[in-house]
Parts: sequence; C-alpha cells; structure tokens
Amino acid sequence: MTTSQQAPLQAAPQAPLRAAMRPFGVSVFSRVTELATRHSAINLAQGFPDFDPPAALIGAAEEAMRQHVNQYAPSPGLPVLRRAVAAHSERHYGVGYDPDTEVTITAGATEAMWSATTALLEPGDEAVIIEPYYETYAPCVVAAGGTVRFVPTTFPDFQIDLDRLAAAFSPRTRLVFVNSPGNPSGRLITPEEYVVLAELAERYDAYLISDETYEHLTYDRRSHLRASAVPGCRDRTLVLSSASKTFSATGWRVGWVLAPPPVTEAIRRVHQFVTFAAPSPLQWAVAAALDASGYDDYLDELAADYHARRDVLLSYLARTELSAVAPEGGYFVMARCPGDDVAWCEDLAARVRVAAIPGSAFYHDRSGGRDLVRFAFCKQLPTLHEAGARLTGQTMPTG
Ligand code: GLN
Repeated sequence: MTTSQQAPLQAAPQAPLRAAMRPFGVSVFSRVTELATRHSAINLAQGFPDFDPPAALIGAAEEAMRQHVNQYAPSPGLPVLRRAVAAHSERHYGVGYDPDTEVTITAGATEAMWSATTALLEPGDEAVIIEPYYETYAPCVVAAGGTVRFVPTTFPDFQIDLDRLAAAFSPRTRLVFVNSPGNPSGRLITPEEYVVLAELAERYDAYLISDETYEHLTYDRRSHLRASAVPGCRDRTLVLSSASKTFSATGWRVGWVLAPPPVTEAIRRVHQFVTFAAPSPLQWAVAAALDASGYDDYLDELAADYHARRDVLLSYLARTELSAVAPEGGYFVMARCPGDDVAWCEDLAARVRVAAIPGSAFYHDRSGGRDLVRFAFCKQLPTLHEAGARLTGQTMPTG
C-alpha cells in the first residue's frame, strides 16, 4: 500500500506513528470533507445525512439526560438496549440473540470492529477482505498484528469470484470481512455467496465479521439477509450494526455487535478497555426508538425516502459523462469517471463544487479503483438537486 500514489489528497504519514499504521495515512473521508469545505462544495463524499434524526429520538435523548441517565452504562451496554437489539434481530431476520451473553453495545460499529479484531487476532493471523472495502477494515486488522489478503471485485457488478475467494484462505485465516449492503459497492451479498463463505469459514475455522450497518436501506423490493441467518453461519458470525444509518445519527456513535457467547466474552474483554461503554443517554434513546410502536412504518418510510434520493442522483448522473450503476442497497452510487479518479475528484470539488470520493480509496491496490468515483445520496432532495444542477449544468472536468 504505497502512499505516493495517493498524493496530494493523502498527507505523508510520519514517525512517531507506528510503522505498521503509516501506510493508512489520514482517512479519505476527513481529507475529502476538508477539500469540500475549502471549495464550498456540496459534500457528496463523506456519508452522513444533511438532515436530523427523527424528533422522537432527539426527544428521547433529552428525556434520558433529564431522567439522570448521564453516568457510565454497564460496559456491555444498557440492558434495555441489548434487549431491544436482540428483539429487533429476532423480529426482522428470525435470528435470536441472548441480550446478556451475545449482545455488546459499542461506540459505533467502528469500535465494534476494532474491539473484535483486537480480541480475536493473534499476531500473524490473516483476515480476508473483499474489495472495494470500507476503509476501517484493514487498519483494524493490521493494528491487531494481523495481515490482510484482499479479494478484488470490479465495477459495475462487483460480483465475488468464488475461486479467488477460496484462494485467499489459508490455515492462518481467522477473519473474513463481509459488508452487505456494501459500502461503497451498493451490492447485496447473495444467499449462494453466503453459503460458500460459510463453508470456507467452517473449513478454515474462521469467523465472518459482517458489517450490516446499511441493513434497512435496500431498494427495488430487495431485502436484507442477515449473515447469521444463513444455515451454518450463526456460530461463526459477528453481526455489526448501529444506529447511525437507520436513525440518521452518525455522530451519536451507538453501535453493536451480536456474536455467540465465547466471542462476545472475548470482545467485551477488549471493549471495556477501549471506551468502557458507549454514551448512556444515547443508548437509552436508541432503545426507545427500536421499541417504538411506529418503528416498522418508520423503516418503510426511510427506505422509500432513500429510494427517491437514489433515483434523483442517478437521473442527474445519467446526464453526465459518468457511467453509474444503481445500487441495490446502502447510500452510495459508484460510477466510472474519465481519467485518474483523484485528479478528477479534486477538479470536481474545485470547479463544479461537488465533492465525491475517489474510487481508489476503497482498494488496497489503488489501481483497482483508479477510474471510479463514489457519490453519497444521504442528502435532502434540494441538496441533491443543487448538486445535480452543478454536475449537469457545467462542463465536466475531464481529469
Ligand atoms: N461511513 C461513512 C462513509 O463511508 C463515513 C465514515 C467516516 O467519515 N468515518 O462515507
């Protein structure tokens, strides 16, 4: 993972940062958001909503603070939230979890990932990551002393080459990262692919780390498949999710990990020393939201709103020189751009004043995404229309 290829969006990492962590540099989301701010560009780069969480959720957090839910939660999470998360999994996917021994509340799914990798990897162990991938996965593995085997998939369908996947496994394989709906791919992993993943995990005695943070954002009548619902997966899967996307509250940092008791016990031993516990009033509020009687209607509305946002962005992109594909889920569109993606995105931010993420940021071998760009559509319709007007109303930069 060389850094010179990433300049100038990438700041050169320096000592005293530990050598193993230097290749990762500064998060692409921070760098491109800074670029967007510098050019007053519309930020379709970093995936965060430009609208507030539901008023009831904010009201519940206020109430929690007034009701004196302001001190440490138990390290594994407030029991009321662990129960709500377990019930949610049972209700939506038919996969039950014991709130006491199989559910841990973390500071976002990102902390869950950090705590899980630190808990499960021995130095020299290997993790399999399917590309394009969300940037947190590889640093978590490397920080825990592991090494990564990448399995690239390509635009536009990002289909997993199952032979290539199998070839990435070795006797040292301990973890396999899966992400469905995928960030940035927008793809849903198929039941057939899960069956192969389960077989490989079984054969090599590995765990699936299943990042399901976009679980409620699926389109065109598709539905989310919980990895642990796949036959053979329940005892080998860590399901990670959070309140961030479901409740448009990415800054709350309330996430969770569902895993069989021995794995949960291991994760909790690390989690207690990372954050000790996630913010208690926000845990309380999320529990209330998950348990609210109107929750299922809220989810239907959320998915319908995102469907509309996706289609608005796609309709504008179709009138540009980009070739975009409709994502099956999540809140990102991947598109092919002419020329080098980093130069193209820098030019787009500076001249068109729309920010997007260069596709190479999602590949270990940067050349894998050199002609790709990722747009986020977790924005209000007026924001998307304004971005669309900019994207279509001016000469597009050619890189
Ligand atoms: N998950 C969001 C994305 O992919 C942002 C993550 C972040 O900013 N750390 O854009």
